[in-house]
Amino acid sequence: MNRRNFSRNVLMAGIAIPSLNLKTSPDSPQPEFQNYERKNLPEREFDVVVAGAGTAGVVAAIAAARQGAKTALIELKGYPGGTVVEGGTALHSFFNLWKAFPGVEKRQVVVGIPQEIIDRLLLIGGTSGHNEMTTNYDYDSVCTSIDTELYKLTAFEMLAEAGVFICVNTMVAGAVRKGSSVEGVITESRMGRELFKAKCFVDCTAYGDLSAKAGASFTELNDYSVCNSMGIANVNIEKLYEYLKSINTLGQLTFGRRDGKDNQVVRFGAEGAALTGSGLPSEYVAEMRKLGAGLITTTVHDNYLMFIKINYQLPGSPLNRDEVAKAELIIRQNQLKTLNLFKKYLPGCENAFIARTSPSLNIRRGRTIICDYDIASEDILQGKHFDDDIMVYGFHDEAPRLQVKNGGTYGVPYKALRVKDIDNLLAAGMMITSDHHAHMSTRNTVCCMGQGQAAGTAAALCALRKTGTRKLPYADLKNALKKDNVYLES
Ligand SMILES: Cc1cc2nc3c(=O)[nH]c(=O)nc-3n(C[C@H](O)[C@H](O)[C@H](O)COP(=O)(O)OP(=O)(O)OC[C@H]3O[C@@H](n4cnc5c(N)ncnc54)[C@H](O)[C@@H]3O)c2cc1C
Repeated sequence: MNRRNFSRNVLMAGIAIPSLNLKTSPDSPQPEFQNYERKNLPEREFDVVVAGAGTAGVVAAIAAARQGAKTALIELKGYPGGTVVEGGTALHSFFNLWKAFPGVEKRQVVVGIPQEIIDRLLLIGGTSGHNEMTTNYDYDSVCTSIDTELYKLTAFEMLAEAGVFICVNTMVAGAVRKGSSVEGVITESRMGRELFKAKCFVDCTAYGDLSAKAGASFTELNDYSVCNSMGIANVNIEKLYEYLKSINTLGQLTFGRRDGKDNQVVRFGAEGAALTGSGLPSEYVAEMRKLGAGLITTTVHDNYLMFIKINYQLPGSPLNRDEVAKAELIIRQNQLKTLNLFKKYLPGCENAFIARTSPSLNIRRGRTIICDYDIASEDILQGKHFDDDIMVYGFHDEAPRLQVKNGGTYGVPYKALRVKDIDNLLAAGMMITSDHHAHMSTRNTVCCMGQGQAAGTAAALCALRKTGTRKLPYADLKNALKKDNVYLES
């Protein structure tokens, strides 16, 4: 893997940050925002501003608003959801890995607002629910499949109901610092440039844009491939399923609710087989490998494969616009080639077509923002809990090779969300945790959602009390989280 590790010094809004001594990489593109004039910008004032309405940000903004904080949410795209509706396949994971450890109790370890989203989706056929895996359950015991479009709508409605001021089609373009605090976020939209001031901020942009522009320290590891997942429609799922079964290549098999009918296939694939070449035609396997494509998917609809991933290893940074532009084209070409392979080789896919792609490629990691604590791989594998846990979690994306000890949980501490050296900025989602093997757990959707609930709640409490993130008594945060149905048992 082509790993690069460098830090950048980012100036914001023309104000240098004297206390931070970060290195500037000579090959790093310099931000264009540093000379922004903040005077004369229209100003809006909030208690909490959440940047990024993705997996973590939606939950953060709902949590903050429900605490009574006047909350704004700023999102680049026209809808909320982020990578949970664009990248993945199942939502990993609301449960501990009990099926891999006989005798271990089944526990739902993430509840709160993330579960409310699932409850709402269930009402409109937008999820298969929490279905037990019938194979590969040493990887995950449960599969929760979602409908990407209904997730966007549900998130939007829940944000509106919570009273969040939702700014979609609006980009976080800069930040204004006052001493060790962020004073405001500079945004760009068709309404022009604005300054969103707040008492406390939460960065949920995945790329760590707000933190970086506010002068936080970060690393950029570039240790994953990027991806654009597509939805393929007009597929006879039963025919494809029977074919994969007949050649003994079915994996990750889960049954659940699909188009109103129970006990339907909602997750399946032949990824392992594609890698080893067993069962499937060798030309298909070789081409899939070349394209970075995988056949592992979830669905909540007949005739529809929700996520077919096309991976691509960027030669440079996912923050480099020009490298990304080249990759966007290559991946789209590879999507069509993958579709054609499906049509040619996979029974049931003869008349398939691409029904959905992500508006832009998805990253598995952009910047890693340096926080007061960096969760280590050993913390996760040993099931460590902290005296300031804000959630617990039990899934690891490298299972069965790496699993949380004994099918238990580890804790995500509050200090892992506090952006280092900044008094009123929290981070949540894929941008925390630098250790690759630890990140392979904390970056997963349900963990990001849980972090979002904690970060939004903490930001609201800080704002309403006019206190910094380090001065918030943990006992008060814990009480608020427990009241809002956050599971905190170790
Ligand atoms: C291809 C792929 C497959 C995956 N598969 C799975 C899986 O099967 N199961 C699983 O649990 N996890 C999976 N993951 C991991 C998981 O989906 C992500 O790590 C997680 O969703 C990230 O959540 P987040 O809140 O950090 O970021 P996101 O959900 O990406 O949210 C970030 C939001 O911020 C917005 N934004 C970014 N910059 C700005 C800006 N400057 N101004 C305003 N808005 C901005 C974005 O538009 C986006 O809406 C996968 C990830 C990828 C990429």
